[in-house]
Amino acid sequence: MEQFENIRIGPKYAIRLSDLADWHRLQATCFRCRHTTVIDPAIFKKQYTGDTRLLEIEEKLRCQQCGNRYGNNLSVGRLPRG
Ligand SMILES: [Zn+2]
Repeated sequence: MEQFENIRIGPKYAIRLSDLADWHRLQATCFRCRHTTVIDPAIFKKQYTGDTRLLEIEEKLRCQQCGNRYGNNLSVGRLPRG
């Protein structure tokens, strides 16, 4: 499993896609089954405008493992340099 290092870049409700650099990664955690996946924010930048808040994207996440759409969490971080 990939190591993921959380970074605090501010209160989550205030974070927008435009605040994320290319090297940032988002880790999505399923509320129901705790499945985690690391996502390149560039994927979201293609779908949403830069002023979209992470909280809005969280609401649209769907777990790839169990299909849960509720209470899923996004955290900001990076992968260790390899
Ligand atoms: Zn799940």
